[in-house]
Amino acid sequence: MKQKTINKEVIINGIGVHLGQLSKVILHPAPVDHGIVFFNPKFPTEKIKLGKIVPEQAIHASVLKKKDLIISTIEHLMSVILAFKIDNLLIEINGIEVPILDGSALTFVDLIEKAGIKGQNKDKKFLTVSSNLIFRDEKSGRYLELIPAKINPETSEYDNNFYFDYTADFKHPLVGQSFFKGKLSTSFFKEEIAPARTFGFLEQLPFLRDKGLAKGTSLGNTVVIGEEEFLNQPRFKNEFVRHKLLDLIGDLALLGKNLAGTVIAKKTGHNFNRLITKNYIDSPEKWKLIK
Ligand SMILES: [Zn+2]
Repeated sequence: MKQKTINKEVIINGIGVHLGQLSKVILHPAPVDHGIVFFNPKFPTEKIKLGKIVPEQAIHASVLKKKDLIISTIEHLMSVILAFKIDNLLIEINGIEVPILDGSALTFVDLIEKAGIKGQNKDKKFLTVSSNLIFRDEKSGRYLELIPAKINPETSEYDNNFYFDYTADFKHPLVGQSFFKGKLSTSFFKEEIAPARTFGFLEQLPFLRDKGLAKGTSLGNTVVIGEEEFLNQPRFKNEFVRHKLLDLIGDLALLGKNLAGTVIAKKTGHNFNRLITKNYIDSPEKWKLIK
């Protein structure tokens, strides 16, 4: 498979879900071997290249930071970049947060599809683990396992697909436990994962607002779960596990390369998912690049 970028610029405007401030994101096409790089024109000397930086500890969003440059809530945009298998992109962010839009990844999908994906003149490499890698937190029940890509016996080549098996488990009776398992293709992502929106529990809103978060939250961008009913209608019966998976895919994109192999995840969130990229940066010998 060849490396990919986009045909032309993509512009995204909107408010951030946590700060409630307007920001403008411009995706620029980039040459082969460039990788996914973020910059903010306000801090022209700082650039953040994915796969070279450990995400910050943050519970409610994926956050990257380098000196004065902070970029936040990038997970939904990143999930689309990974699902479209884009390798090279320069992402300009004017502001701090990537816009929340309708709380799902659909607008990013539409805009990137309109711009078009461009194949480039160099082979791409996929990232996989050398052997099973497990992250677990007994107390919270969070669990992540990465299983290496397998060799296809018919072709003797690596299967560079990404397989997932996600379990969500919430105490709230309206949400409960749910599972979602499959193979991540671009079309599967577009139809089954991208429309799943951000969700939140009404009872947590005062706590979040106290911390200066969720200032941009509204019924237009979040499925709100009240004590006994949803305040707006879900798009899927299991929209929440689908969105948890969307967030995980976005966090896996922070490796800077397309992941091949299988990921088994239970009850994970951004603060746990970041351990994967941390492991890749701290222990590169546990990982390998394949074709
Ligand atoms: Zn999310």
